[in-house]
Amino acid sequence: MKISTTSGNNWNFLSISKERKTKTLNHTRKQRSRLFALEYINYKNINSLPIKFSDYNTLFGNYEWIVMTYEEAKEALKKDDPLNIRRKTALARTLHMRGDNIFLTVYIENKKYPRQNYYTIAHELGHIVLGHFFDFETTSLFNGGLTKKQYSILEREAEIFAAELIMPMPVLKSFKIKSYEDIADICKSTKSSSKIRLKEMHTFKLPNYLMPRYKTIKTIFHDFIYKKKCLECRQSFVSETAKYCPICGNNRLVRGDDKMIYNDSIKLDKNGKAYICPRCSNEETKDNSAYCKICGTNLINKCTNTKGIYEEIDFNNRVKIKDPCGKLAEGNARYCIHCGEPTTFYIQGILRDWNTKKTYPQMKQDEAKKQEEAAKQVAATIAPISDEDIPF
Ligand SMILES: [Zn+2]
Ligand SMILES: [Zn+2]
Ligand SMILES: [Zn+2]
Ligand SMILES: [Zn+2]
Repeated sequence: MKISTTSGNNWNFLSISKERKTKTLNHTRKQRSRLFALEYINYKNINSLPIKFSDYNTLFGNYEWIVMTYEEAKEALKKDDPLNIRRKTALARTLHMRGDNIFLTVYIENKKYPRQNYYTIAHELGHIVLGHFFDFETTSLFNGGLTKKQYSILEREAEIFAAELIMPMPVLKSFKIKSYEDIADICKSTKSSSKIRLKEMHTFKLPNYLMPRYKTIKTIFHDFIYKKKCLECRQSFVSETAKYCPICGNNRLVRGDDKMIYNDSIKLDKNGKAYICPRCSNEETKDNSAYCKICGTNLINKCTNTKGIYEEIDFNNRVKIKDPCGKLAEGNARYCIHCGEPTTFYIQGILRDWNTKKTYPQMKQDEAKKQEEAAKQVAATIAPISDEDIPF
């Protein structure tokens, strides 16, 4: 079996019809069906899950793919039973209107289980992308001169395609999937299909010829796979390794999306150094020094924990609670994503606290003042006692 795996937008799914003109088919082409789903993801540059079909269905190469619910089709086509779906007791059907280069998919909407609709649509797309309409020179798979066996093979292929499209294996493999609920959560897939997919994940071995496509899919999905959300300040960011939030220093991170709230990022070069001094706007920062030659600001944003973090347990003893770190940080990071300690930009007052909007030096001052006040109060309450009420 020879399959072309051209990348990007060059993939022409129609070329597959030349690949095989035979109308006899006696086995399910599993790997081909999987590969074509991944090719489609790549071709459409789909980079997040769940797949939003509404974004992708209008244009398909030179072809148009129109998807309608049964109710919409009744209205639009002015037919009692569009594509004879009820008569054929089908869930969905696709018609290839050859003259107009249009594929029309009509499906019966499952209002109770909307996730089932994804599957139904993906299955129909599978028939199109896998070339079933071309290889078997039929306008509608039900009406073609297919044997029962051939028909069930094509059905199986469309199923495999749909599963790979909705729950792409290279993406799932990048997550720490523990249960079928994880899959259903990420892919918005049905309970039953997620369960089957979980089993497949355990037994899956990557064939060599799928390797290149797996890599590209992982690259396209990189941000989706590694996006994190802080439950404390709600910042979203992308990192493969972060344990702490760069904005508030919290370690309550979950996978997922929220808003990019703190866009006050200072532009840094590849060595982590600011192009322009954020304090005095000096633009001549291309020397070897980490510090601004005008105002002395440290222009490299990095973790300030260079000696490790210790906790005093008593006068003579202390325990190490964090190893030295000192790693470079992003331009908007107040805290190191690896160890949660403040960054150089933060302690210099260049970036403000996410919550109080104060600078780090201001906050330290406030803290010192509070302590002073507290000490004064303690002194004030102790003083009268010691002066007047001494019983001896
Ligand atoms: Zn089908
Ligand atoms: Zn946070
Ligand atoms: Zn400066
Ligand atoms: Zn650190």
